[in-house]
Amino acid sequence: MSEETGFESGAKRLVELWGEIADLEATIQVLSWDQETYMPAAGQAARGSALGTLAGLRHAKLSQTELGDALAAAEACAESGTPTAALARSARRVVDKTRRIPADLARELARAQSRGHAAWRSAHAEANFALFAPDLENLVRLSRLEAQALADGTPAGDGGEAYDALLDKYEPGAKAAELEPLFRSLLAELTPLLQAVRATGTEIDESPLQGACPRDAQLAFGTRVAKAFGFDFDAGRIDRAPHPFCTSFGTGDVRITWRWNDTDFRPGFFGILHETGHALYEQGLPARWGRTPLGKPVSLGVHESQSRLWENLVGRSRSFWEWALPELHAHFPALSGVTLEQLWPALHTVKPSLIRVEADQGTYDLHVAVRFELERRLIAGDLAVSDLPGAWDEAYERTLGLSPAGPANGVLQDIHWSMAAFGYFPTYTLGNLMMAQLFEAARAELGDLDAAFARGEFAPLLDWLRRNVHGHGHRFRADELMRRATGQPLGAEAFLAQRKALTAEVYGVRV
Ligand code: ZN
Repeated sequence: MSEETGFESGAKRLVELWGEIADLEATIQVLSWDQETYMPAAGQAARGSALGTLAGLRHAKLSQTELGDALAAAEACAESGTPTAALARSARRVVDKTRRIPADLARELARAQSRGHAAWRSAHAEANFALFAPDLENLVRLSRLEAQALADGTPAGDGGEAYDALLDKYEPGAKAAELEPLFRSLLAELTPLLQAVRATGTEIDESPLQGACPRDAQLAFGTRVAKAFGFDFDAGRIDRAPHPFCTSFGTGDVRITWRWNDTDFRPGFFGILHETGHALYEQGLPARWGRTPLGKPVSLGVHESQSRLWENLVGRSRSFWEWALPELHAHFPALSGVTLEQLWPALHTVKPSLIRVEADQGTYDLHVAVRFELERRLIAGDLAVSDLPGAWDEAYERTLGLSPAGPANGVLQDIHWSMAAFGYFPTYTLGNLMMAQLFEAARAELGDLDAAFARGEFAPLLDWLRRNVHGHGHRFRADELMRRATGQPLGAEAFLAQRKALTAEVYGVRV
């Protein structure tokens, strides 16, 4: 056994071969990061072919017989519950997923995604669903074939459904039938909460937060807080990009991006806090398992739980702002008159809206619930693409009490389906539920976190997350990770309790 990694010697060859795959993946990530940040537009074609070549090499490495033999050797020597068993299981998952998709289906999907993406862009710009419908039909058809291939030809073999195989790409082990009751309780509790808020007629005045916010001051303020949270800038950096994201080339090099609004500090600032949460996870993954599949994050849901925890439960808490408000004043003279009583409620407004990415914390999961319901029906064949716009509008009316005034603010607003990313949306809500449950467990163990936040101390919380989430890498699946960290399976209770407490405090309503 290796002292350093804890892997049996029978896994040695697998680890060596996987290191090359991991290096290719990191190289692809560097080129993709550059493409989104500094690459001139004219570099597109050359970059596209470089990325295509690297993706082909990765696929070839994952398909080679020698890797299959090395994986079988690791499986043969792994005792259950050991790091070697976890290594073999996560490697097997990647290898099988790669091998089960026939080459012609993979090619057809790639073509359909790139055509679908272009069609979606024009359909969105012209607010005309018909321009996207034929491509979406094709994407649904191919995704169903993909689901069947991923499930090894038996999508309903264990009582599951085709959609589960797609969900599993983003959230290993998740099942639609297990998500359904979670969404049902969210809808049952969040909808009346939203109605009660609307009935108060309260409008929170957000105007005191508007004011000139120079770009450099925003970056300095965001960086100051990211450092205080624990982002290691010797092992990471922040750059501008059209869309905020986080990417990692290993625990020693984690990059985040941001964008800003000149008259409102909030989108840029909370974007940085969100991506910092993702980056803290990546920087905290077990370096001893770097270049193996065990050194990876568990799932998109777990990743999102980390970003949302730092953005929403820390960065929007009253105690955090007791520490951060003087910093805000110092960085933005135009906001030097803002008080905690003006600022804090404005970070917790609840108002139904049509656009998911602009939704507040009280309504966000209702947007996700609509997408989960509709995409699951599309993949099951219970909903035809031609009926999707009507079903969308009906679902928004039923869930949020709003009717979209056209497809651009409705069914065409998200990019995901144009890229065949069916099964991705639920990970946002899983992230919220995990966030709340993890935070509750951390608070139960660590005591009064608010006193620490008010002093600008975030290390106790980060240490807890390192011990209970980050440091395990990909060793446990999300359900087991949650059980170990919180003592319970994932539920909606902690999230709903936090929502209710906030709504009571900000709007004075109780349901
Ligand atoms: Zn995120």
